[in-house]
Amino acid sequence: MPRTFLIGRLSDKQWPGPLSGEHARTPLPEVIARLDDFFVSVDPRAKTRCIDGRHDPELDEAMLGPQVPGGAPGSALAYRLGVDKDDLTRGTFIGDAEMMLESYLRLGLSPGGHRDDDVDGDGVGCGAIDGLQSVLDCMTNPRLVEDHKRLVKTILDVDFNRDHYLRVMGAGLVLQSRSQGYFHDRGEILDLLDRRAPGSVSTLRGKHQEAYLVVNLVEGTTMSSNRFASAHGGAQAFGYDLWRSRQLVAALFPLPTHQVDRERFIHARVMLTIATLMALTDGSLQVLMRLPAEG
Ligand SMILES: [Zn+2]
Repeated sequence: MPRTFLIGRLSDKQWPGPLSGEHARTPLPEVIARLDDFFVSVDPRAKTRCIDGRHDPELDEAMLGPQVPGGAPGSALAYRLGVDKDDLTRGTFIGDAEMMLESYLRLGLSPGGHRDDDVDGDGVGCGAIDGLQSVLDCMTNPRLVEDHKRLVKTILDVDFNRDHYLRVMGAGLVLQSRSQGYFHDRGEILDLLDRRAPGSVSTLRGKHQEAYLVVNLVEGTTMSSNRFASAHGGAQAFGYDLWRSRQLVAALFPLPTHQVDRERFIHARVMLTIATLMALTDGSLQVLMRLPAEG
């Protein structure tokens, strides 16, 4: 049996995001005790989902893909910050995302992304993509850096590496200085995804009501987000399938000499996930970690 651990609130401080854990209705011990009921095996052909807990009307419960922040395009920024050896003063997010998308397709992984039904302005509807500029702002905010490092350390546990952390943080700071130019045209990403991988973009319904973050390390499993929300009085959960990031790096950087790239990519991915939660939430969500059975 996988084991679930309570990490506590994201933070005791006030984060910049609007979303709070107030939607929680179910006593926490009950959520923990029943969490496994909402995890299913991923279908390898199913498209990658966002960590978003909102309702996806087209979700096929028998064919769920893994959840990562920003779906497939979200990995592009992690690659830029953690791995790319190019000059950080060049390149664009749309260019990086296109490259990442091609890698997914080449490796037989099913990319995915989503829009929103109530998006206004120039947003594409996915907090993890729309807000990338504020995500970068949060990651490099001196007021938030202690929280950020603590959570990244907790999630990466024994794999945490201080040098990787500082390097990605430094890359983030450099990129932030030209984030306007880098993220220009990011709205085209979902059109690109639609074109290159037809049917890979879904539209999520309604409002964010996430009350939990569940970090899942049990390989091959993912949360049924629709079912979780309906069983918890509408309270949703962000689901991050961290095992999927590890699987992705193993595919992207397969050689023994790629060890450092693998480690840096994972650091960047987790660092951006925490920064995304800083931009989306006020820090009051409860964090749960789901680990494989012992032995
Ligand atoms: Zn999203």
